[in-house]
Amino acid sequence: MENICAFCGGRVEPKITRVIEEVGSEIDNEIIIIEHVPADVCKQCGEKEFTPEVARHLERIRTERLGVVAERTIPVAEYK
Ligand SMILES: [Zn+2]
Repeated sequence: MENICAFCGGRVEPKITRVIEEVGSEIDNEIIIIEHVPADVCKQCGEKEFTPEVARHLERIRTERLGVVAERTIPVAEYK
């Protein structure tokens, strides 16, 4: 069975990806980088799609900070 991208109709392929998510509110937010996440990635537009199981696990990682192995300082820039 071949998967098709819901956005552009391109072909998707299974890949191991990096997910960068914002946690918290706009004012008091934090960025979490989640490495080695299995996803179906569109070859055309790069859209990532996760299985419901992976999406649920990502949610747990975000909310419970499961499996945090390192802390990084992230540069913040102003667009001007
Ligand atoms: Zn696409």
